[in-house]
Amino acid sequence: MYVHFPWCLAKCPYCDFLSVAADRADIPHQAYASAVIAELERRVEVLGQRRLGSVFFGGGTPSLWQPSALGRVLAAIRARFEVAPDLEVTVECNPTSLDDGRAAALRDAGATRLSVGVQGLDADRLKFLGRLHDPQGGLSAVRAAVRSGPERVSADLIFGVPGQSPRQAQDEAATIADLGVTHLSAYALTIEPGTQFGQLARKGRLPLATDDAVADGYLGVEEALRERGFRHYEISNYARDGHVARHNVGVWRGGEYLGLGVGAWGTVVLDGARLRYRNGVVPERYLAAEAWTRVDPWRQHELVRELEPIPAETALSERILLGLRLAEGVDVEAQASALGVNPWPAERQSARDDLLRRGQLGRVGSGYAIPSEHWLHADAIIARLM
Ligand code: SF4
Repeated sequence: MYVHFPWCLAKCPYCDFLSVAADRADIPHQAYASAVIAELERRVEVLGQRRLGSVFFGGGTPSLWQPSALGRVLAAIRARFEVAPDLEVTVECNPTSLDDGRAAALRDAGATRLSVGVQGLDADRLKFLGRLHDPQGGLSAVRAAVRSGPERVSADLIFGVPGQSPRQAQDEAATIADLGVTHLSAYALTIEPGTQFGQLARKGRLPLATDDAVADGYLGVEEALRERGFRHYEISNYARDGHVARHNVGVWRGGEYLGLGVGAWGTVVLDGARLRYRNGVVPERYLAAEAWTRVDPWRQHELVRELEPIPAETALSERILLGLRLAEGVDVEAQASALGVNPWPAERQSARDDLLRRGQLGRVGSGYAIPSEHWLHADAIIARLM
């Protein structure tokens, strides 16, 4: 289950997630919870009973949400599904809205995992990224999550920012890891077309890190975390034993997930057909009283702006694309057989054989994986198998 919370205190210039800037006092905390619960109830009418392994509150900034409102949504979800005894409940948190009190309140509301968007530990770089917190704010938030929140804590870092040395990327990963987090995600700064950074880049007014600097930052982070006993289990993700993000792994393995909330994406199997949908992106429409009681949530309209069947061939390509980002790789034949399609059309087969010859693809059990020394070039390798 993915629940999207669409508000943030400000819009970061690199961010292309669906988020709307708002003051905390102006956010309709309880009304949004009620609308999400209304959507949930309508969707489960058709979906029926399913087993739920994880809930991910993403955004936006879900740590801005009043914990009582978030807890109400979680209670409704728990009541309508058969839940795994060790249900993973992640809440994404921004340092500007996470202290001891909030971490404890989220834990008490049912969160089992907090994920803190630290992004960096350098004041100028944080300013460049449009973040509202300083390095101390990021560190304090992680300490609060570790001290007062649930047992599992993750942090996000961005590397490959212009002016950032590989050594800084490495030291920041080490500093965060030493605070006691159990999981860390490290992403290279990417410039997305629809963002403020995208516009500046088009006009040639955004400084950019070189590819070599980005690669060195990636290797620096990896070294710091491997030395500290973290396992590099996905290209951008590291975890201590037993602490992988189960929600994300489920998605990367091609699992179904129900998306709730403004702009949420979901992928479910209904009557044997695999469907992908995206909810409407305008909070006011989503919040309109009774909105979800008037519509069929499994059809396209103002509340569900996209709804499309995913052909089996496309589903297999997506599973290869996501599975090859994982150290465990992907069992292409098993996935193809479950989907009823040919795993190795001639072109993919010849690309596979070539990649195996070059050592850019390896066998793991009955599946295939990209050896970690080639992860820096994973996009190009995966593209050959599409
Ligand atoms: S806080 Fe996160 S979701 Fe919100 S604008 Fe910044 S990067 Fe995007």
